[in-house]
Amino acid sequence: SVAARAVDARKTYGEGDAAVHALAGVTVDFPAQEFTAIMGPSGSGKSTLMQCVAGLDRLTSGQAFIGDTELSTLSKTDLTLLRRDRLGFIFQQYNLIPTLTAEENILLPLTLAGEDPDREWFDQIVRTVNLTDRLGNLPSQLSGGQQQRVAVARALVPRPDIVFADEPTGALDSRTGIEILSFMRRAVDETGQTIVMVTHDPHAASYSNNVLFLADGQIIDSMADPTTDRVL
Ligand code: ADP
Ligand code: ADP
Repeated sequence: SVAARAVDARKTYGEGDAAVHALAGVTVDFPAQEFTAIMGPSGSGKSTLMQCVAGLDRLTSGQAFIGDTELSTLSKTDLTLLRRDRLGFIFQQYNLIPTLTAEENILLPLTLAGEDPDREWFDQIVRTVNLTDRLGNLPSQLSGGQQQRVAVARALVPRPDIVFADEPTGALDSRTGIEILSFMRRAVDETGQTIVMVTHDPHAASYSNNVLFLADGQIIDSMADPTTDRVL
């Protein structure tokens, strides 16, 4: 099944001579329980595509779907609720709360939503990202890679339909980046999570099931199972 979809998605910034067509008609399906990477040079529209499909920004025209829901039909409030209840986000900056422990940071989205965690699932995710021994630590007591693993767990624990990741390894050294990508890959293989990741790094993309190549706001190519170079 399809977790998210864009149909003739267009996004234009500015007007007239100054108009930038960040998305110039993108149609794509993001399959459920797969790890899709969006690649392309800087300025090709990767972040814009992800942000519009994830409901963080609005298209100029065309449609963006999460499941069967077309995002332009939602009010601002309903869009916020859809993001909170159905989506997870991992960014280059981990955005952890410095005064909360790793466990409290991981549980924060559920706490804010007033929901009780599924402890079995929590334990499985924490094991998958190898944080079992670090749950009581504050972010300042964790390495960059450990902090990003906390951010990965925070995105996965509420069982979102889709996790969107924008350059999740961009701030990490390459070895730590590989570790994070392996954990994201395991989350797809072991828990059936759906992940959409923006990256300009071919090695990062090799952890995905499916790579989309963007140039000048259009999809110019795609590749299934790019296993080259993958270190697991
Ligand atoms: P990528 O993620 O591939 O680097 P972006 O989606 O960030 O590409 O940007 C695509 C194009 O849209 C670029 O030319 C960028 O400068 C432009 N752009 C992105 N966001 C804005 C914005 N908020 N205002 C104006 N132009 C923007
Ligand atoms: P990325 O390449 O990952 O999009 P950027 O540093 O290009 O990262 O963009 C960071 C933020 O700035 C994004 O939210 C993007 O929408 C916005 N942005 C990018 N280009 C422009 C621009 N020309 N004018 C205004 N905002 C922009």
